Amino acid sequence: MNISGDTGFRRAGRFDGIELSEIVQISERAAQLRAAGADIVALSTGEPDFPTPNHVIETAHQAALAGQTRYPATAGTPALREAIATEAGVEPANVIVSTGAKQVLAGAFLATLDPGDEVITTAPFWTSYADMVRLAGGVPVVLNCPGEQGFKITSAQLEAAITPSTRWLLLNTPSNPTGAIYSQAELHALGAVLERHPHVWVISDEIYQHLAYVPFTPFVQAVPALADRTLIVNGVSKAYSMTGWRIGWGIGPAPLIKAMVAVQGQITSGACSIAQAAALAALTGPQDLLAERRAEMRSRRDLVVAGLNAAGLECALPDGAFYVFPKTPARMPVDHEFCHYLLDKAGVALVPGRAFGMSGHLRLSFAYARQSLEEGLARIARAVAVL
Ligand code: PMP
Repeated sequence: MNISGDTGFRRAGRFDGIELSEIVQISERAAQLRAAGADIVALSTGEPDFPTPNHVIETAHQAALAGQTRYPATAGTPALREAIATEAGVEPANVIVSTGAKQVLAGAFLATLDPGDEVITTAPFWTSYADMVRLAGGVPVVLNCPGEQGFKITSAQLEAAITPSTRWLLLNTPSNPTGAIYSQAELHALGAVLERHPHVWVISDEIYQHLAYVPFTPFVQAVPALADRTLIVNGVSKAYSMTGWRIGWGIGPAPLIKAMVAVQGQITSGACSIAQAAALAALTGPQDLLAERRAEMRSRRDLVVAGLNAAGLECALPDGAFYVFPKTPARMPVDHEFCHYLLDKAGVALVPGRAFGMSGHLRLSFAYARQSLEEGLARIARAVAVL
């Protein structure tokens, strides 16, 4: 078969400016260099290096053998929905299970945004947020939240950004890429603003909830009065090292969930049945691994923050998740130039801050084996020293 690329292919207009995320681009480039024989330390990807727990894999195997291989219910298998609902103290009608937290977010935007509707979020943000909003026809309203304010949105910023077109405030706590966690008081302050603007709903992306090194407050716990207009996003990817299984969920008001289920029914027919059985095992099985893995991540965090600061890259201590977001060195302040320099000259892959809406920073993921982190830090220190 001969497929020519020259067929006048035209992309949809709503796709303008949307490309493969820079995280994926860097990671693919690192993989190519490695395949060509280069010695590359990749610290660019946001997935834990730990294996999926054995009991989870065993359950998936048994589920497949027992015939859980047919189309699942669109909103999620009754057993998994029930388990998520019970843990959250809500009804199954308040829960949708999707193909990763990513699809929960995409489904929420597709189900709710009309052209021109606005979604307020912070920079730095997780790369997919702004593009997902755009793909759904909405307008991302990105508020600059520099390190001086802990990379978090203030209530004054929120108040000033709300317009009649605002549909959502999109929060991420703990945050990718900064690790920032909103305190109870900070959530209260944001909640007080939102109570004055009943047309604005909240998405709280809490996928890093179990990777918190300071007390973590879920949004609706801090602001229970807003539970009837909040969508909580969570999943098994980060906590249980299950990125490839693609299971996430949303918890929110039943009419919203119903609309999201309708969207999902037309796009995927629901998440993989075997992966849902596995996620149920993760949620209902032994939980000791959460604390063990959190402790390991915490000590890696301390190692990386100390190493980067010693190398001359100013780096704050993150409260959660498994990322640090240091500043670029004064002698090479342009983040993507510095990342290319690091990859080409030192063989270390990091992601430029611009991918998260904030130039002049870099994101390093410390969800890697200690040995890779130590080698990566040594290479960064040498590369910075000869700038
Ligand atoms: N939200 C944030 C903040 C993330 O960092 C990620 C994964 N990088 C996701 C959602 C998506 O997670 P999932 O694997 O469940 O789609």
